[in-house]
Amino acid sequence: ATPTALLVGTGRGAQLGILIKGPEVLESTRAVDTVVLDKTGTVTEGRMTLVQVVTADGQDEAQVLRLAGALEHASEHPIAQAVARAAAERVGDLPTPEDFANVEGLGVQGVVDGHAVLVGRPRLLAEWSQHLPIELERALEAAQAAGRTAVAVGWDGQARAILVVADTVKPTSAQAIAELRALGLTPVLLTGDNEAVARSVAAEVGIEEVIAEVLPADKVDVVKRLQAEGRSVAMVGDGVNDAAALAQADLGLAMGTGTDAAIEAADLTLVRGDLRVAADAIRLSRRTLRTIK
Ligand code: ADP
Ligand code: MG
Repeated sequence: ATPTALLVGTGRGAQLGILIKGPEVLESTRAVDTVVLDKTGTVTEGRMTLVQVVTADGQDEAQVLRLAGALEHASEHPIAQAVARAAAERVGDLPTPEDFANVEGLGVQGVVDGHAVLVGRPRLLAEWSQHLPIELERALEAAQAAGRTAVAVGWDGQARAILVVADTVKPTSAQAIAELRALGLTPVLLTGDNEAVARSVAAEVGIEEVIAEVLPADKVDVVKRLQAEGRSVAMVGDGVNDAAALAQADLGLAMGTGTDAAIEAADLTLVRGDLRVAADAIRLSRRTLRTIK
């Protein structure tokens, strides 16, 4: 709905699939030397699939999928959608959770079939004194070493399983990052996900600087910190959790495939969600500025 509220800054921008909020935006691109990129949904497709379920000794896989799937069905997170979809396929109809709550950047919690269930980062489970048994700890490390995101499932005081999901890097991301580098910009990968997963994605697309395990509310502080170091920061993101960082950045770029919150907070929208257009946008505004001068 929001793109209609945006001004199309230049005809050429519109042709390239870039919506520009106002002419003053072009000016902000002049000094930009750093591009902070959100991982999920920006560098990667953000469409995950469940690839593995590892249960703790004595746990039933169907039960794990039923409880975790029911809870995740109530969340819009890409991980949640992957879990809910796979659970519905394998165990059929899922119950409706009670007392559902989204714990931003950590996971979800709620009551399913009378059990108090948690799905999310091991840190979320640890807050409830649910620590991973050794077999799950190993499965988690193996998944992360392979560049995959793994979340833990626990209920009634005990961690019960690890769910491994896989996301894929967009086919255009590596080229986009090479183009941003060619423009003299330093790319930085920013994510709430685990360090090992972040490193693996970064290596795949040619990024060296990685800032991982950042809670949604802290993404804006990362941008502020880089600015305090004297860097002029462009931020590219898609999620509700990227909105504050997009607004704080010297130049905010939202994926048109992302949330309304991100699009509203950004200066520019990349309509098709193709990261290569971020390089086009910076090239276009530099050229436009040169013509104005
Ligand atoms: P990103 O910064 O990559 O977009 P988020 O900040 O949305 O990631 O989430 C960070 C981490 O929190 C995820 O990698 C996952 O481990 C956990 N998490 C968040 N929401 C959920 C959920 N609904 N189900 C399971 N895990 C979740
Ligand atoms: Mg995201």
